[in-house]
Amino acid sequence: MDLDVKQQKLTLLSRQISSCRGCPLYKSATQAVPGEGNPDSKIVFIGEGPGYYEDQQGRPFVGQSGQLLNYLLQLIEVGRRDVWIGNVIKHRPPQNRDPFPEEIEACKIWIDKQVEIINPEIIVTLGRFSMAKFLPLAKISLIHGRNFMVKFMGKERKVVPMFHPAAALRKAEVMKMIKEDFLKLKNELA
Ligand code: URA
Repeated sequence: MDLDVKQQKLTLLSRQISSCRGCPLYKSATQAVPGEGNPDSKIVFIGEGPGYYEDQQGRPFVGQSGQLLNYLLQLIEVGRRDVWIGNVIKHRPPQNRDPFPEEIEACKIWIDKQVEIINPEIIVTLGRFSMAKFLPLAKISLIHGRNFMVKFMGKERKVVPMFHPAAALRKAEVMKMIKEDFLKLKNELA
């Protein structure tokens, strides 16, 4: 698909996401956070859902987890604007609670369509909710940083489960592992 067409389709989706009433989360959120980045990226990063700052700004990964994600991208010499970044949940859950299964289910149409349009080769999942979408029974501590071929939206894609940056900010051990996993990803992209 042409870059312009992809961009148009993603912009239209973002508008639809902004007026989504598919679950009650829109009532407590400031605004939706549809996702952003290069529509032609061969790699997408999918997190859980907006936190406080994302909800305020309408952009994914702009708070503390986002600062760490930016650092990890720099570490592997990938520009944030060259990739696409989004979440499985588009409206912030109150007090940053975990999303409920029915909220993930209601929101699924958006991330599925976004991935279909972008058509990436590699999907990096950040945290367990995003991982569970592609690898439902997996345990992050056992499989982080490995590659899994998963058929998703019409194509076999490489899924790489990573820890959530927020977990790395809480635990030095996880920080070490997430850096190693990103460096492995760098080799993958080379
Ligand atoms: N955590 C997420 O999972 N996504 C964001 O956009 C920000 C923090």
